[in-house]
Amino acid sequence: MSFRLDGKRALVTGANTGIGQAIAVGLAEAGAYVIAAGRRSCAETVDLCTKVGGTAEELTLDLADLDAAVAALPDELDILVNNAGIIRREDSVAFSEKDWDDVMDVNLKAVFLLCQRFAKNALAAGRGGRIVNIASLLSFQGGIRVPSYTASKHGVAGLTKIFANEWAGQGINVNAVAPGYIATNNTEALRTDPARNQAILDRIPAARWGDPEDIAGAVVFLCAPAAKYVTGAVLNVDGGWLAR
Ligand code: NAP
Repeated sequence: MSFRLDGKRALVTGANTGIGQAIAVGLAEAGAYVIAAGRRSCAETVDLCTKVGGTAEELTLDLADLDAAVAALPDELDILVNNAGIIRREDSVAFSEKDWDDVMDVNLKAVFLLCQRFAKNALAAGRGGRIVNIASLLSFQGGIRVPSYTASKHGVAGLTKIFANEWAGQGINVNAVAPGYIATNNTEALRTDPARNQAILDRIPAARWGDPEDIAGAVVFLCAPAAKYVTGAVLNVDGGWLAR
């Protein structure tokens, strides 16, 4: 049984910061060649990958221009991690169509198209592969004031399962990781609101915010030979939140 990824080529979207950066570094540490993709420079991530003894390059990939992003996805990949995501907060009665479309395009449509492209390439080459999509607690729960985010993350869980069903026979495993409350840019508004911050901490059995590295370990596992019979799963990494 192996947890190593030597010889594998892995692309991570949104790899310049937060959870995506930690996943890129984790995959590099496990031996994968990492393509750190972002709409901004991922030079810092490439440096961090090198510091843990790995190898990495950066790739410009802006999911706001989906045609270009799909065309830019390298043909020869063994691992795809769809991590990039955005959130917009507003009461549902006042939520704008733009905030709906922007979030659905990056969080869901991009995941669909990148998975499809990855699988087309892998199937044509007779190669298996691993996809890990980053879901959310809001793949299971409703949340509040984040309607497009909740819809998109429920969609990510659904896409993960249908792709797993369709591609398992060809050796492409598709799973998702659902992070709990992780300290990144995405959750800054929650952490800086003292009442919300305390309410969240009070409900987490582990009694702390998660670190991006907490998510990276689960992703490395799902990409590793040891997880070859795991597909269609949505793995919660949430300090016990959903168990409560
Ligand atoms: P983050 O620090 O805000 O990172 C989000 C990443 O997505 C950044 O790299 C961002 O790039 C990238 N991104 C956004 N729009 C993009 C676009 N158009 N094209 C390419 N990249 C784009 O937040 P995070 O917490 O690490 O989020 C990573 C993933 O985890 C997201 O899918 C998020 O929904 C999910 N998640 C996070 C939490 C949490 O508690 N933090 C919980 C559940 C799920 P820029 O830096 O350029 O904006």
